[in-house]
Amino acid sequence: MKTFKFLIFLMMSVILFSCDIKTEKQTEDQPNDEFKFLIDQFDDLKIMRYQIPDFEILTLEQKKLVYYLSQAALAGRDIIFDQNFKHNLCIRRTLEAIVENYNGDKENAEYNNVMVYLKRVWFSNGIHHHYSTEKFTPDFSKEYFAELVNAVNESKLPLQDGETKEDLISKLTPLMFDTAIASKRVCQDSEMDMIVNSANNFYEGVTQEEVEKYYSAIIDITDITPVSHGLNSKVVKEDGKVVEKVYKIGGMYTEAIEKIVYWLEKASTTTETAVQKAAMEKLIEYYKTGDLRTFDEFNILWVNDLESEVDYVNGFTEVYGDPLGMKATWESVINFKDKIATERAIIISDNAQWFEDNSPTDPRFKKKEVKGVSAKVITVAQLGGDCYPSTPIGINLPNADWIRAEYGSKSVTMENITFSYDKASEGNGFLEEFVYSQEEIGLAKKYGFIAGNLHTDLHECLGHGSGQLLPGVSTDALKNYHSPLEEARADLFALYYLMDKKMVDFGLMPSLEVAKVEYNGYIKNGLMTQLTRIELGKSIEQAHMRNRQLIAKWCYEKGVAENVILMEKRDGKTFVFINDYEKLRGIFAELLIEVQRIKSEGDYEAGKSLVENYGVKVDYELHKEILDRFKKLNLAPYGGFINPVLVPVKENGEIIDIKVEYPDNYTDQMMEYSKKYSFLPDYN
Ligand code: ZN
Repeated sequence: MKTFKFLIFLMMSVILFSCDIKTEKQTEDQPNDEFKFLIDQFDDLKIMRYQIPDFEILTLEQKKLVYYLSQAALAGRDIIFDQNFKHNLCIRRTLEAIVENYNGDKENAEYNNVMVYLKRVWFSNGIHHHYSTEKFTPDFSKEYFAELVNAVNESKLPLQDGETKEDLISKLTPLMFDTAIASKRVCQDSEMDMIVNSANNFYEGVTQEEVEKYYSAIIDITDITPVSHGLNSKVVKEDGKVVEKVYKIGGMYTEAIEKIVYWLEKASTTTETAVQKAAMEKLIEYYKTGDLRTFDEFNILWVNDLESEVDYVNGFTEVYGDPLGMKATWESVINFKDKIATERAIIISDNAQWFEDNSPTDPRFKKKEVKGVSAKVITVAQLGGDCYPSTPIGINLPNADWIRAEYGSKSVTMENITFSYDKASEGNGFLEEFVYSQEEIGLAKKYGFIAGNLHTDLHECLGHGSGQLLPGVSTDALKNYHSPLEEARADLFALYYLMDKKMVDFGLMPSLEVAKVEYNGYIKNGLMTQLTRIELGKSIEQAHMRNRQLIAKWCYEKGVAENVILMEKRDGKTFVFINDYEKLRGIFAELLIEVQRIKSEGDYEAGKSLVENYGVKVDYELHKEILDRFKKLNLAPYGGFINPVLVPVKENGEIIDIKVEYPDNYTDQMMEYSKKYSFLPDYN
């Protein structure tokens, strides 16, 4: 079962708002202290940089720990490419060989389109869009592709045994250019065989029925501490039998996992606490054995490690890439605690019981005792695997329900990442285009950053953890509607409390104006601006987006008689604004009560009708208008980051310091990673 944690929902509002705008003029006047956040833009993507504030005040041991873990994060990069599609590494390497070795004319539009395509492949860790999971195709011709490949020396190309250049070209051309082949990475259409129709590399030569049969024979439904079955393996058929190829040393992906373990072993010599050391050693043991029971033991140790300042995610973690929600993609995030900002998160988690007790939901659906909520604000020092270059802005782990219930979870807000989003969007014209009034723009600029971060804190730390199921209700009862409803529940919890006077009393915000900014941004995004991410004529599929539209539309309709939210046209442009914040808060409460009931009772039909009626369909005319307006701004709806570089300073072979460098070239970083951290064969 999927849990939440990937909180992309806020990105848009973070993109929209900025707290303290500096003008272009000032940038020119102060070239030295100006850090460039936005460094590249192509297709629907933008590339940013993030800073690592206060890295220099970490101790040498902490810096070394961050450094070793960051190397482990980079060592797994190839895995996610291979997991996303079995031909991804071969395609990436062919294109990289062209970039490295082609000596012909590079100053023309068609070659530029090759670069854009490769940049997209890097961004998505493969040839399918990172968000929609649909295959994207090149804007250059097949003939040009063949010409480029033919111009590269054979020894530089990823040729398999006995394969010629012609073979390579005829193998890759349909994979890259034909939209009908491997068209979707994750097929979620339950009317189809979702395994056969997904291009991901978690299954091969097996049908959905065979996979389901295989796992139902293994899974013991009476086990109250079940392992995460199937999390770290590929399912294939060998000699007519369904078997699992496990990701571990000596198993699948061993070449990359050996390097990951090499760096983890180094990291385990410089840990901060005994429990951190024990956890890391468990993780190493798990990578060596592939034993999922060991993985659970690791998670229990990891979730108990609350004292260490440096922390990390490293492993097969999230299951969004598998339509059956079992197989996890490899990812890594290295970070350390932002102590000052964490004070805010501590206030929230210390008062978790107060929030639970005072929520408007039915008392039968509330947790009597909220436990194990540990929240912190972190500074990211390295992104890897499925978190690079596109990253979440909040994470809540581990995922196993029984571990969460018994041992709690760690919830983090990645504030140097949201800060970078905020800075990168300064002065981009988005607010001016879509926000109704000057007054609202002013408030957004003043409070947008803090409003977004508080929403993330409340959503991750409290929202997902709140409430309980009635006895006998299965966590899978809502099936494919689980994710959007779960996100809606967490968002509604956050939205409801943002406008509580208690937030000011707790010292979390200077005034309720902050909440108004979040309400404005949320409703506008849900009703209008998130549509910039959808192709004209299509409906909404992504869980967080369904959730946002569901909430915004439901609230709009509910309040229409009393003019709570208004949609108005001015000079042919639609604007959304909130007329009555208190009433809107009441409507959020009403919907929270209903969504909690649906979850607690496992009311599939009610959940389905909420999502289908409010979260999926898009008004064509409005959508067209939004896309036209957005296009004129020349902005990219999705963003990702390149990593800073951590450079060890050595004296007599010993590391005496780690310095941070901030490169600013996306292509260079990707090419460098492909040279230094590429350990897997073309096919696995
Ligand atoms: Zn969430």
